[in-house]
Amino acid sequence: MAKILLVEDEHALRELIAFNLQSAGHNVAAVDNANDALMMLEEVVPELILLDIMLPGLKGDQFLKLVRANAAYAAVPVVIISARSSDDDIVAALEAGADDYLTKPFSMKVLLAKVMVMLKRTRRSDDSAAVRYAGIVIDEEKHLVSVDGTEVSLTNKEYELLRLLVKYPRRVFTRNQLLSNVWGYDAEVYSRTVDSHISTLRKKLGPAATLIKSIAKIGYKVE
Ligand code: CA
Repeated sequence: MAKILLVEDEHALRELIAFNLQSAGHNVAAVDNANDALMMLEEVVPELILLDIMLPGLKGDQFLKLVRANAAYAAVPVVIISARSSDDDIVAALEAGADDYLTKPFSMKVLLAKVMVMLKRTRRSDDSAAVRYAGIVIDEEKHLVSVDGTEVSLTNKEYELLRLLVKYPRRVFTRNQLLSNVWGYDAEVYSRTVDSHISTLRKKLGPAATLIKSIAKIGYKVE
């Protein structure tokens, strides 16, 4: 069942939403501030985030920008739940990367319907992919990579590295971004580790090796 991350500081409302989602069969993690939500994202990437804007400390819109900036969970759909109901507020949230917006007060029925639609949409797009770019196909379910139809055997880190680059083609990742996404934030590895993994990855990719471009002094991209 779906893992939904709920970020709402108002206790009664948080309980009510969590209760309704759970009753509908969803798996919910609820927190009352955005800093805790960021920590939770490091542990598990949810299928959907329900996000209040007016929060103590880090605000919902700032949190949303951080989510969209991190490749590990940038693709997670975010539905804003906020008392701020002006057109400008809604447009600003959508422009910042929100997928939908519900103004408070809202009915639980409408919230559940929106959640269902959002989950269905992301699952459908997941099914269609296999992540692919040029001749590279990555079957995420089976953890298999092939180049022009020929299977390539990769180590776990090589796989994660390639998957990240291929999922976001043309996007430049710095060595530090690759390190934090593939090795984890506190891993004691040096940026040279990224270079050596890229080097072996290129060898294994054969004809597709040239798709991984080095960006001098910065990092790498797939193009
Ligand atoms: Ca609030």
